[in-house]
Amino acid sequence: CGIVGYVGPQDARDVVLEGLRRLEYRGYDSAGIAVVADGELTSAKKAGKLANLEKVLAEHPLPAATVAIGHTRWATHGGPTDRNAHPHLSADGSVAVIHNGIIENFATLRAECERDGVEFASDTDTEVAAHLLAAEYARTPAGPGRLAEALRTVSRRLEGAFTLVATCVSEPDTLVASRRSSPLVVGVGEGEYFLGSDVAAFIGHTRNALELGQDQVVEIDRTRGVTVTDFFGAPVEPTAYTVDWDA
Ligand code: GLU
Repeated sequence: CGIVGYVGPQDARDVVLEGLRRLEYRGYDSAGIAVVADGELTSAKKAGKLANLEKVLAEHPLPAATVAIGHTRWATHGGPTDRNAHPHLSADGSVAVIHNGIIENFATLRAECERDGVEFASDTDTEVAAHLLAAEYARTPAGPGRLAEALRTVSRRLEGAFTLVATCVSEPDTLVASRRSSPLVVGVGEGEYFLGSDVAAFIGHTRNALELGQDQVVEIDRTRGVTVTDFFGAPVEPTAYTVDWDA
């Protein structure tokens, strides 16, 4: 339902929670957030209103981070429970994903992961993307753009409508996202970047936006900036625009 991502010098936890608040108008049944800090991915997620998540975070704060992703969920596969809330982590804890939309071939992909010994922690169609991405990342040659390359490979296998955003412990200054038939916008600030299912997610911070097209993957890296490609790695020039409505 609602997606927010942040990379930059601010406390990413605050930026993402604020973005989620601005997306509350969309309606949702659960919320969650994940951060990469000190070589670890940690997450918190809770069914119900954002206030429920904020209560969990007040009692068990996540570490301060410069990369965070957040999600408000409108359940389609799996009930609106804590465990089904996003983010979903891979079994080894190396990758976290949030997802809007429906992965139509998730049952086939889930069976494939289970044959490989993966134990699922939720009933969602989304979780399969976390496990596939972690496995693909392990197979992808090291170097800049590795997470984006793994996401392209996974995205080619997914059917349905999706906006997927992912983070990885090994790339603490990077966010990647992929979209097919579901919206995704990038906000470009001064030395900081935002991702949103719509511009409301980051309008308080920047009005410079990039709109992603159908079947595209974006990599946002604090030092390398924004790189957009299609699902096969061919570079794409994203459509830049200025958001001119009031927050
Ligand atoms: N299909 C996913 C789920 O049920 C994502 C739903 C959404 O767009 O919030 O968890």
